[in-house]
Amino acid sequence: MTGAMLPIVRIGQGWDLHRLDDGGPLRLGGIDVPFEKSSRAHSDGDVVLHALTDAILGAVGAGDIGTLFPEADPQWKGADSAAFVREAVRRASLAGCRVGSVDVTVILERPKLQPHREAMVGGVARLLEVEKEQISLKAKTNEGLGAIGSGDAVAALVLVGLVQSSS
Ligand code: MG
Repeated sequence: MTGAMLPIVRIGQGWDLHRLDDGGPLRLGGIDVPFEKSSRAHSDGDVVLHALTDAILGAVGAGDIGTLFPEADPQWKGADSAAFVREAVRRASLAGCRVGSVDVTVILERPKLQPHREAMVGGVARLLEVEKEQISLKAKTNEGLGAIGSGDAVAALVLVGLVQSSS
């Protein structure tokens, strides 16, 4: 059963920012967006999945991504960030919750994400095992200001609403 129409019982927010280095592709929302830059990170540097992980963990008070998956741990070098999201979902389920809605805002100057939006929404929905209608993804520029505006960083904000697990 979809969680889209169930009452939200917990909410969580997540935020992440990574520096951009020369050499693509840019990993965002679990897909490789063709671009001449990529996120500098210990893992695959996916700011959308990192912020999503923190939002889910935050909703159930289960810590944060940096504590659960420390950068000093070689296990997470180059890791697919989907693993972080799955662990956050597992912890939410231990707290009796599952994902009801996700609202993502990506902040970056380039590239335009519109052509990749559907693939990202579909990928995040599959990862969370929810319907695409439960995922919102928007992209904004930083109006040319600061590190994001100069194309040296990408950021993501995620708000998650959790519903009660049916089990
Ligand atoms: Mg990160």
